[in-house]
Amino acid sequence: MDEKRRISLERADELHREIEDYLAFKEDFLRETAEIRDVLSKKHKEELMNYFDADENDWNDWHWQLRHRISSVSLLSKFIKLSESRYAMFEEVSKKFRWATTPYYLSLMDYEDMTYPINMMALPSAEENDESGELDPMSEEYTNPAPCITRRYPNRLIINVTSSCAMFCRHCQRRRRIGECDRIESEENIESAIKYIENTKEIRDVLITGGDPLMLPDEMLEKIISSVRAISHVEIIRIGTRLPVTMPQRITDELCDMLKKYHPLFINTQFNHPGELTDDAVRACERIVNAGIPMGNQMVFLKGINNDKYIVQLLNEGLLKARVRPYYIFHPKQVKGTRHFEITVDEGLKIMKYLRGHTSGLAIPQYILNAPHGLGKIPLLPKYIEESDDEHVKLFTWEGKEVDIIY
Ligand code: SF4
Repeated sequence: MDEKRRISLERADELHREIEDYLAFKEDFLRETAEIRDVLSKKHKEELMNYFDADENDWNDWHWQLRHRISSVSLLSKFIKLSESRYAMFEEVSKKFRWATTPYYLSLMDYEDMTYPINMMALPSAEENDESGELDPMSEEYTNPAPCITRRYPNRLIINVTSSCAMFCRHCQRRRRIGECDRIESEENIESAIKYIENTKEIRDVLITGGDPLMLPDEMLEKIISSVRAISHVEIIRIGTRLPVTMPQRITDELCDMLKKYHPLFINTQFNHPGELTDDAVRACERIVNAGIPMGNQMVFLKGINNDKYIVQLLNEGLLKARVRPYYIFHPKQVKGTRHFEITVDEGLKIMKYLRGHTSGLAIPQYILNAPHGLGKIPLLPKYIEESDDEHVKLFTWEGKEVDIIY
């Protein structure tokens, strides 16, 4: 064996050892998830369909999913056994922050273990009573130059078309708007928003969000998208939606056929845990991508759900397989009632540092902290530069090896 081949083989062994722990984790995780899906989720789905006297066609119809949202503790307790104290706590929290889950998302839960990430994202917890934090840490109310509009940057803006969502995520950073009521913005407000965009020539990128804009019926959504598309200076349209995750039945062929008329159009969604990447959710993403719409994922770091380097790696690699590009990871904001999900920036950076080298660059999103008071996004990066001047730069590789580059 020549020397170069011997060194290459040694390095390949070293790299294999580097990934061994992750591979073992992945195998265990996928086996457990498969068990949950094959046994528990199927069983839950059957129970739910029996209870509501529904068939497969009903289950796959998003209108049915919405009509049968579970939003009362008494109904939930028909499926999940709740202790007396938990029942009382759910009722108490519901008075402050509304909750609801689709039958589909409920079917993914572990009915025995309330610390299972899917449960944690959907069901109330006592920590929501914590009074610290703010309801609007981003001061969105102060970046609202026209009805439904949020503007924080020179050439792009957000238009919020509804406050309704299929499920009220417990970590929602906009919970002051979401979950009070299901309110679609009035035609008048939406028209004023469109007028504002028309009159603001520098706006080239419009993000349609909410709540969840895909909660709107196709015709209403098309009216908004086509009006934005008709504005000559708008180059791209983006839609922010979590429905591929919480109610994938919404992603119908009819919806995708409508959307693809308005390219260039992008969709960003929010998967936070690999347990959300079910066959139904992946099919929903594929439908969108097959309509020529690039998809991105905007995960939020959430304690107890994804503050784990292997979970993030598994999620992002799974997303790529579904042709969804991990786009952002958001640092959680200090929103009242969600503070139990917070992690430190240091913890987030360690995970980001781990990802580099251990997975494809495509599976590494940008880690973003939204500055308070609507001051915009701040990218957070692990430290790779030790020192630099006009003559040299001293850096660290992904493995922490020191490299000195002399100019
Ligand atoms: S889907 Fe988005 S906006 Fe709606 S509750 Fe969940 S996180 Fe909030």
